[in-house]
Amino acid sequence: MSTPSSRDILAQLVAFDTTSRVSNLPLIRYVGDFLSAYGVESRTIPDETGQKANLWATIGPADRSGVILSGHTDTVPVDGQDWASDPFTLDARDGRLYGRGSCDMKGFLACALAAVPGLVARDLARPVHLAFSYDEEVGCVGVVGLLEMLQSENIRPAMCIVGEPTLMQVVTGHKAKRSMRVTVRGRGCHSSLAPQGVNAIDQAARLIVRMQDIAARLAARGGIDRDYDITHSTAHTGIIRGGTALNIVPDICVFDCEFRVLPFEDADALVDELRDYARELEAAMQRIAPEAGIEIDLYAQFPGLDTSPDAPVVTLAKSLTGSNGHSKVAFGTEGGRFDQMLGVPTIICGPGSITQAHKPDEYVEQSQLDACDAFLAQLADWARIGRDWR
Ligand SMILES: [Zn+2]
Repeated sequence: MSTPSSRDILAQLVAFDTTSRVSNLPLIRYVGDFLSAYGVESRTIPDETGQKANLWATIGPADRSGVILSGHTDTVPVDGQDWASDPFTLDARDGRLYGRGSCDMKGFLACALAAVPGLVARDLARPVHLAFSYDEEVGCVGVVGLLEMLQSENIRPAMCIVGEPTLMQVVTGHKAKRSMRVTVRGRGCHSSLAPQGVNAIDQAARLIVRMQDIAARLAARGGIDRDYDITHSTAHTGIIRGGTALNIVPDICVFDCEFRVLPFEDADALVDELRDYARELEAAMQRIAPEAGIEIDLYAQFPGLDTSPDAPVVTLAKSLTGSNGHSKVAFGTEGGRFDQMLGVPTIICGPGSITQAHKPDEYVEQSQLDACDAFLAQLADWARIGRDWR
């Protein structure tokens, strides 16, 4: 059997439309078949609908602690994007491989699979695990089922590498996120009778100004981590909808807002602060209209990641990349969940740049796949020697 290159495998993976809203099972079946062709068993952990699944596989001795290679199988949509080539056909132009998910993050999955024959051929002293998830792009939620399985079976690998695009640089941290949908219900009436109504837009505006006040406070007096481009925690409002006509007092206003919080600060306390203020406003609103109210729905959240620069996983990854620096990134990953739910020291390192992700004409450079292949080949040698990882 000739060994397929990471680029060959990437072409296969890109051809599966795994936009988060659709099933990822055809891709998961492909991966399962690929692995079994090399004698590697895998198991799937389905979601409650049976339409999506995580995949977990172990190469090498399962009774020892090893390293996880983690990545998500889903991608963002191509809706409304203008692509120069078919997003689901890998297209090579000028050293770049174009396709949806090529960078975020099927490129890493392809390199991990391309490494399998080499791992199988070695007599590994420590196992290498593959953890492929779904529904990362909608809040890092799919991987939770996989982590619960590992928790319940007491599988605690020594370290985890999440292959999100970092240009193969070692990344040790990212901020936590809390995404909220705020629904303000007031009482509508003709605007000439405004005092008899409760203007939902006015009350939403107060909450949004409070978000700005919190943002200003975090910037001026909050914690600081100079490894980030934006060194402090942030607050932001992104979408607002309310009102139908100028002569009607609006009875409903809905807005979405978020906190992005340094891992050592309390993200939930910020959400509580907004909730407390909403309760205050609500009391005043209900004196005029008892049916009025404010709902804050925390619809997405993930924990931050802050791995010590001295952790063995950082030292190992630096030795595999051959570069001594590390940094922290603005985007979230599943790494925070591996750290929080399993206590597995985790870093982020993968091919491609996040600036090439999510856009039309998403691409990964062939040289990035080559660098990731080399990284994983060295990891395989290292797992064969099996130095003590604890
Ligand atoms: Zn991603």
